[in-house]
Amino acid sequence: MLSRSTQFLQQLTTINSRRNLSFKQFNQIKPIINRNLAWFSGQSRKDTFGGKLKRRLKNFFVITVVGLGTYYGYRSYRRYRWFNDMSDSDKTSGTKPRVVVLGTGWSAVPLLKHIDTQKYEVVCVSPRNYFLMTPLLPSVSVGTVETRTVIESIRSLIGPRVKFIESHCINVDPKAKIITCISDGEQTVARGDNVKAVIAPSGRTDGASSRIIKDSARVRPEFQMKYDILVVAIGSENNTFNTPGVEEHAHFLKELLDARRIRSAISDAFESAMTPTQTVEERKRLLHFVIVGGGPTGVEFAAELADLVREDLQTYFPRLVANDVKITLIEALDHILSMMDKQISDYTERHFHRENIDVLMNTFVKEVKQREVIIQLKDSNELKSLPCSVVVWATGIKARSLTNKLREIIGLNIQSNRMGLLTDQYLRVKGIDDGSIFALGDCATIQTPKLVDRIQSLFEEADTEHRSALDLQQFRTLVEKKITEFPQLEIFSKSVEKAFTEADKEKSGYLTLAALRSTLEKADHKIRALPATAQVASQEGRYVADLLNQLTDTQLNHFEQQNLKPFRYKHMGSLAYVGGDEAVVDFTGSKPLLDIFKLKPMSGRSAAYLWKSFYLTEMFTGRTKTLLAFDWVRTHVFGRDISRY
Ligand SMILES: Cc1cc2nc3c(=O)[nH]c(=O)nc-3n(C[C@H](O)[C@H](O)[C@H](O)COP(=O)(O)OP(=O)(O)OC[C@H]3O[C@@H](n4cnc5c(N)ncnc54)[C@H](O)[C@@H]3O)c2cc1C
Repeated sequence: MLSRSTQFLQQLTTINSRRNLSFKQFNQIKPIINRNLAWFSGQSRKDTFGGKLKRRLKNFFVITVVGLGTYYGYRSYRRYRWFNDMSDSDKTSGTKPRVVVLGTGWSAVPLLKHIDTQKYEVVCVSPRNYFLMTPLLPSVSVGTVETRTVIESIRSLIGPRVKFIESHCINVDPKAKIITCISDGEQTVARGDNVKAVIAPSGRTDGASSRIIKDSARVRPEFQMKYDILVVAIGSENNTFNTPGVEEHAHFLKELLDARRIRSAISDAFESAMTPTQTVEERKRLLHFVIVGGGPTGVEFAAELADLVREDLQTYFPRLVANDVKITLIEALDHILSMMDKQISDYTERHFHRENIDVLMNTFVKEVKQREVIIQLKDSNELKSLPCSVVVWATGIKARSLTNKLREIIGLNIQSNRMGLLTDQYLRVKGIDDGSIFALGDCATIQTPKLVDRIQSLFEEADTEHRSALDLQQFRTLVEKKITEFPQLEIFSKSVEKAFTEADKEKSGYLTLAALRSTLEKADHKIRALPATAQVASQEGRYVADLLNQLTDTQLNHFEQQNLKPFRYKHMGSLAYVGGDEAVVDFTGSKPLLDIFKLKPMSGRSAAYLWKSFYLTEMFTGRTKTLLAFDWVRTHVFGRDISRY
């Protein structure tokens, strides 16, 4: 069989043997040329099935070869870079100032990703060798999202230029600039991957692969390390407010291990309730789930639990769900989600009513026992017992022991805030004279200086004409000049005239020292500690990385002279999932872009889409983004896995 190109050549030769082509002859050739051109360019419409298949196979082959070539080329390049960077960082260790970062959470990771490793030798120390996407923990605790989806290995996140040591810091010596670390011990924070701690020790058959074993893999001696700059980003602990029984009988929802324990406990409660000899009373107790704390964590967990019950457990345990299941959310204040807009709190309360979640407001938990929770209503002395099985405690946070130790070392007269380390506006820890310790995230609080404490010098500086009174222009200059140092002045920045007119009660056109004081007091009243959120923590981490990268003089106490900007938080809004594929979004106080649009609080399905797209984009890597998308689709199509392991 002649190939197509040979046929074409033969046809042309036959026609061309007559040498000179007439118009008629040219018209004869035209379709042949067109047909063959079309074949070469792959556009022939009259192609046979075989031809089409051949062309497609050819295209597929070319694409596969190019794709695989590119992929393996890129992989080899990355491996080459990785080992190059690793040997580079080994060679240069000890030649650059050493930055030691404690923690692998929301504040530490942005810092580690953006700090200039050409300039600093960076060492990260943390007992957790992964980053945890905490906002998705409520989803993990009921199986909507799987555990491996919400974590990312710290080594793959930060690359070889940053050294990582899995250990936890137990002491800091700010004078000698040395930290002391151990890998295990009494004060170990929850690792979150400690499977051995999840599995009950008893009741396993000898030789079972899940038996408790004592291996020798986790042996790491205590060590000390010198630092030039220390960044404390160790987060916080759950606050029980010394409520009896919480440590022993309630679940927290802070680490991955907590979420796994809760998932097991929910499954346990349902399987126990199915035991034939169970009394009705005991069944009701087993299937009563109590959540303490109506903040975002408590609300999101209650919502996810209600989804699990309605969408999955109802299929497997229809009678139990119809008769015995109860979810109760307890809140000490008169609203849930009280930090959000009032409309959002009201909407969530109504929505929870529809979702069969009982919300007890103005209620205090006095004690948690193994089989009950003792509550007390506000303005009442009466105590009431709520029989229940699983209690989730999500009431707030407190400082870790290392944070408190550091506060004591510096002096409690300077470090007087029990919630965490007080820092200046550059996030340097107060009381460390050389400015070599930074603190960020949940373990730190920025101390904003009060205007009234400096009223005299501010007044004198603004009173350029020495009239003992300020006119509008002088007041405006004062606000503009001092807003970086005193961010609370922002309340006047939108309308300086209005603030001036309100302060000038005598309508004289001037402000006396007394009038200025009463105005600035209003601004001081607006000082609020930043919330303990991932949003704040990650902005702080990024800020310190940029700050250290910009430093020209490593004298860490001369930032003002180096024209470095203090930290400014930009709130982008708050989100919470409320169940039934609905969420709430509050843009109040968000700056700078969203403020212009004056966005109203959102609720319902559209907010849920926003919530989902937000977390999809927030996932740090392509791997976790893909896993999260798959988990949502899997849950939607096949439901949640309710097996306990
Ligand atoms: C269930 C849940 C849901 C949340 N949802 C949201 C949300 O939707 N939006 C939001 O903005 N915020 C949310 N948050 C809050 C947010 O997770 C925290 O504000 C944030 O994690 C604080 O970051 P961080 O870096 O200070 O601490 P973390 O992220 O907690 O990291 C602390 C790190 O320090 C390490 N560490 C602890 N002790 C030591 C030690 N002694 N030495 C060295 N390292 C140590 C830890 O292992 C960890 O790696 C949620 C929190 C939880 C628990």
